Amino acid sequence: MFSEEKIKAITSIPISARGREDRLTWHLTNNGLYSVKSGYHHQKQLEAEELGENSQKWLEIGMWKRLWSMKVAPTVKHFIWRACKEALPTLANLKSIITEDSKCPICKLEPETSGHALWVCTTAKDVWNQGCIKTQKMSFQNDLFLNVWSKLNQKLDKYELEECAVMMRGIWSRRDDLMHGKGFKHPNNIIQGAKADVLSYKDANGSQRDHQQHDHQKVLSWKKQLEEHTRSTGM
Ligand SMILES: [Zn+2]
Repeated sequence: MFSEEKIKAITSIPISARGREDRLTWHLTNNGLYSVKSGYHHQKQLEAEELGENSQKWLEIGMWKRLWSMKVAPTVKHFIWRACKEALPTLANLKSIITEDSKCPICKLEPETSGHALWVCTTAKDVWNQGCIKTQKMSFQNDLFLNVWSKLNQKLDKYELEECAVMMRGIWSRRDDLMHGKGFKHPNNIIQGAKADVLSYKDANGSQRDHQQHDHQKVLSWKKQLEEHTRSTGM
């Protein structure tokens, strides 16, 4: 009849030593008696909480829609999605399996979370500090990557956000290169590389559409010629 949780809550209620009768009380007033005013405030509070939860949900749905519609390589979109879900192989995410020490292996200042690796670590900050003015002005504190990405969604326009996503992929690869003794790219290298990647992806996809349109027009004109030929020869 009752869930485990409710049974625990019920059995933990202390029983009066003086054997008093049970009585109903309203926990939102000092005297335990219900008042319309306290009921009204409680209802308003519940409505505000529900509204907050719903608007948060809608914000998140909008954020995913924007992510999947970005004109960047699918690998970049998946990378950002995994970072938002804390599914990147950072030490903090792998801690229970690999090592107890989850500190960032590069700066050794904080646990290596996605937010740390891509936003707060010195190996990320040096890139953001030379990136667009909007990211330069943002605060760099350890936060869930989901919150960082949500803030970027609010501040950056479509093109800036696309560049930013590719730069994050570049920052991650640069960390990997450093860990494997493959040198350390200059921040400008990451920034210019991201700009070039975004442009070349758009060019490739734009020209693909142009090609398709071009091919379609060729077929139409060929069909037209064939129809005219058929009419003129009476075939
Ligand atoms: Zn670090």
